[in-house]
Amino acid sequence: MADFDVLVIGGGPGGYVAAIRAAQLGFNTACVDDWRNEQGEPALGGTCLNVGCIPSKALLDSAHHYHRLQHELGDHGIRAQKVSLDVAAMQARKNKVVRTLTSGVAALFAKNKITWIKGRGRLLSNREVKVTAHDGGRDTLTAGHIIIATGSTPTAVDAAPVDGERIVDSTGALAFTTVPKRLGILGGGVIGLELGSVWQRLGAEVIVLNRSGQLLHRLEADIAREARRQLSAQGLDIRLGARFQSARAGKRGVTIGYDSADGAQSLKVDRFLVATGRRPNTAGLGAKEAGLRLDARGFIEVDAQCRTTLDKVYAIGDVVRGPMLAHKASEEGIMVAELIAGQAGQVNYDTIPWVIYTWPEIAWVGQTSARLQEQGIAFRAGTFNFIGNGRAHAMGNTQGLVKILSEQDSDRVLGVHIIGPNASELIAEAVTLMEFGGSAEDLARTPHAHPTLSETLREAALAVAGRALHR
Ligand code: FAD
Repeated sequence: MADFDVLVIGGGPGGYVAAIRAAQLGFNTACVDDWRNEQGEPALGGTCLNVGCIPSKALLDSAHHYHRLQHELGDHGIRAQKVSLDVAAMQARKNKVVRTLTSGVAALFAKNKITWIKGRGRLLSNREVKVTAHDGGRDTLTAGHIIIATGSTPTAVDAAPVDGERIVDSTGALAFTTVPKRLGILGGGVIGLELGSVWQRLGAEVIVLNRSGQLLHRLEADIAREARRQLSAQGLDIRLGARFQSARAGKRGVTIGYDSADGAQSLKVDRFLVATGRRPNTAGLGAKEAGLRLDARGFIEVDAQCRTTLDKVYAIGDVVRGPMLAHKASEEGIMVAELIAGQAGQVNYDTIPWVIYTWPEIAWVGQTSARLQEQGIAFRAGTFNFIGNGRAHAMGNTQGLVKILSEQDSDRVLGVHIIGPNASELIAEAVTLMEFGGSAEDLARTPHAHPTLSETLREAALAVAGRALHR
C-alpha cells in the first residue's frame, strides 16, 4: 500500500489548497515543502504568503496611509504635523501579517490531518518521491497520486547580478530597512510597478526602465495610457524603450547603463531592483529523469486539466503554463484534487482576474479590444469615468475609468477593464457576471447600492447601449 493517497510537492497557494481539498475529499494527504523563513523556520504558503502577494500588499497599504496623511488628507480637513516614518515598525507589521497567515495554513493542515513534510521532494517515478528533510534525513515515499506545485523564482539577469544589498530581486525589495534615496527598477511589469509604488510613496525617487515602448502593453490601451498618466503624475519616472545593458554595484550605489532612442545612457541609483519576470522551479525536482516533459521555456507540460506526461502525476500553479497568479494556482489545485476523486474538476481560464495593486488599482478580466479585433470578433464598448460617480467624489478619488466589452450580437460580456479606486474588489462582480455568461444588459439591469463605486460598472454597462445616466 502507498504511504499516501495524494502527495503534494510544494506548499504555496497551489499546493496547500490542493492538499486541503484532497484531504476534504477523504484522501490520506501529505505535502512536502522546502520553504524556510528568514528565521530559518519552515513556513507554509510559498512565494505568495512569504515573499509575494501578502507582504507586498501589507507594505502597499502602509505606504498608502503614509502618502495620504502627507498629501491627501488635508483636503478632508485633517492636518498632521511632523509626520514621521518608522520603516522598522512597518517591516515588523508586515512580518507579523506574514507569520499570522503562514501559521494559519499550518493550522489548516493540522485541522485537515494533512502530513506536513519539511524538506525537499524529488520525483523518482509516477509513484515515488525522494524526500530530503531539513534535518538531513532521507526517505522515499510512495503515493497513489502526485501533485507538483513547486512554483517559481525571480529570473536572473546576467548583467545585473543580485547581491541582496545594492542589487536586489523582489524579495530583497520587500525587506529594505531604509527608504532608498534613488531606486532604479528594471522592468515595468506588475511587480516592478507595485514595489516601485511602495518605495516612491515612502519618499524614494523611483526610475523604472521598461524595454517596451509602451507601459503594460498587454492591457486594454485606454487603461494602460491612464495608468502611465497617473503613475507619472505621482512622480514615478517611467522610461520607455530603455534597453538595459549593465549594472555595476559599488560602495556608494549602482551605476546602470542602458540604451534609449537618444543613445547610450548612464544612471546612478542607491539600489536597483531587478523585476524582469519569474521562471518555473524545476531545478532539483528530477522532472526530466522521471520522464516529465518540459516545454521550451522550462514549464512542466500539462493538458487543460493539469495532467502531466506521467500517469497520475499532475502539475499546477506557476510551474505550468498560464498566468503566474496565486488564485490561478489555487483553482488548479482544487480542480486536480476533484479530478483525482473522480469528480468533474475544471478551471475556466477565461475568467481569471488580474490585478495590479498600485494606487489607483488596475484590474481586468477577459479579452482586450485588440485581442477581439485580432480574432475578428465584433463587439461594442462602454466606458464610464469615476468622475461621474458620487462615492468616488465623497472619497476624493475621482480618477480612472471602467470599460466593458460585449459581443456585438449576443451582448455577452467578453472583457472588463478597470483603473480606479478599489478596482481589485470591483472586478469580482465582472468575474461573476462572466462566469454566468451574463450580458452587459444583465449588469445594466442589476440594482447597485448607492452611493458605491460599483455603480461605475453598471454605468459602463449602460454605456455599452449608449445610455449611461451620469455622463
Ligand atoms: P509558490 O507560491 O512559488 O510555492 C511553491 C512552493 O514549493 C514554495 O514553498 C517552494 O519552497 C516549494 N518548493 C519548490 N521546489 C520544491 C521541492 N523540490 N520540494 C519541496 N518544495 C519545493 N499573485 C497574485 O495572484 N496576486 C498578487 O498580488 C501577487 N503579488 C506578488 C508579488 C510578488 C512580489 C511576487 C514575487 C509574486 C506575486 N504574485 C501574486 C504571484 C504569486 O505569488 C504566485 O503566482 C504564486 O505564489 C504561485 O503559487 P504556487 O503554489 O504555484 O508556487
